[in-house]
Amino acid sequence: MSEARNFHMPPEEFRKWGHSVVDWIADYQKRIETFPVLSRSNPGELRKRLPSKAPEHGEPFKSILEDIDRLILPGITHWQSPNFFAYFPANTSGPSILGELLSAGLGVQGMLWATSPACTELETHVLDWMADMVGLPDNFKSAGPGGGVIQDSASSAVLCALLAAREGATGFQTNEHGCDGKLVAYTSVHAHSSVEKAVKVAGLGRRQLRLIEADSAYAMRPDLLANQVQADRAAGLHPFFVSATLGTTSSSAFDPLPEISQVCRRENLWLHVDGAMFGPAAVCPEFRHLQRGVEAADSYAFNPHKWMFTNFDCDCFYVADRAVLIKTLSVLPEYLRNQATESGAVIDYRDWHIPLGRRFRALKLWFVIRHYGLEGLRYHIRRHVELAQVFARWVEESRDFEMTAPAPLNLVCFAHKAGNEFNRRLLERINQGGQMYITHCVLGGRYCLRFCVGQTHTEAEHVRRGWELIQQTAASLNRP
Ligand SMILES: *Cc1c(COP(=O)(O)O)cnc(C)c1O
Repeated sequence: MSEARNFHMPPEEFRKWGHSVVDWIADYQKRIETFPVLSRSNPGELRKRLPSKAPEHGEPFKSILEDIDRLILPGITHWQSPNFFAYFPANTSGPSILGELLSAGLGVQGMLWATSPACTELETHVLDWMADMVGLPDNFKSAGPGGGVIQDSASSAVLCALLAAREGATGFQTNEHGCDGKLVAYTSVHAHSSVEKAVKVAGLGRRQLRLIEADSAYAMRPDLLANQVQADRAAGLHPFFVSATLGTTSSSAFDPLPEISQVCRRENLWLHVDGAMFGPAAVCPEFRHLQRGVEAADSYAFNPHKWMFTNFDCDCFYVADRAVLIKTLSVLPEYLRNQATESGAVIDYRDWHIPLGRRFRALKLWFVIRHYGLEGLRYHIRRHVELAQVFARWVEESRDFEMTAPAPLNLVCFAHKAGNEFNRRLLERINQGGQMYITHCVLGGRYCLRFCVGQTHTEAEHVRRGWELIQQTAASLNRP
């Protein structure tokens, strides 16, 4: 048989194109402010320009790379732009991108310790570092009864927490027999939608989720939580899980953990704490008071992929008691049996999350922490908070705008005094202009604008120009 033609990219060619791709990314970083922040692409626009069938014959890498500029860039919303103030940041950085590249280069599957010991051990170690970095108690570290794991997202983390809580509350009977329709979970009306999704995915039924009302600062009211739990118990139901938020998505409200955890202890409920956005801020000691009470949590999650210069995906998920989580998610088919697992001396992270396979995500986090050091991380997070606080002062001092929620960190919720419809038009006009991107939320029936500072390269001048643009745009719109 003659030797088959080899279609692969040889290492020397890979080296050449690898350099080109890194050059492309470096140039992108330099020219990022020349693009409209919010993509102007219309629905279906990209697909119209793509061939309807996959190519029969391989194409030169040069033309593939050229299509990034020609086809892909117009459909990109520039999350890494320093003028991106929308949603929450999903920031990244040089060391993170390089860590991600190496992870792809190694291409390992870290489902078991045995399938790449370094992938597991680096993850355990970096998450122990991280627990210290953000001031978590020792029981979340691997030497204690708990431990940390990297999840793809805070959504997956809350699902895993909910499943472990469900099994803990039912003596692992739900795993065996399915839901009995009695389990009830609790969160605040301002909690992230991922809690509702977890409840749906876990098979509880959405009616088994209670949304607890918030106080005037949009934080969950622990008295109403306690009342609702008691009412549900009296109705013969089985309360088992509370998800509290440190830094809500709408307005960065902080649910009062000390009071909520008291209710949880008294009522024997699993307390999950969602610090998706806020979490990294706790590397600064002056912001740690905001997470007071986190030591009483059964699980805690936060996202370096939001505000710690680590590209998506990277969520740090901690549990106080890993045994329940592992027993909940563990399934051991014959083909995965191995000596290391059987010895009990190693961690197999496949039992700590939903999928089997897992990427080597600890690498980029390790790079970021080592590149910046705690000093660098603190410097940039403080800087973002400082810039947001300056913006908040401008809003407070302005005649036309006002604050609509407390702004303890890097998110400012505010509104023009001319009403909801005006604010809606204002937001649309600002984002159409392409010079910056902000989003909205609704608080107490009021349409608010959100200005969140957290992009890697956002500086004082971007925030100042953003505020000027908001004022100028408002002045150019007709009042109702
Ligand atoms: C962003 C956010 C989430 C969702 O994060 P993913 O990692 O995208 O799942 C959950 N909770 C809060 C408070 C958030 O801000």
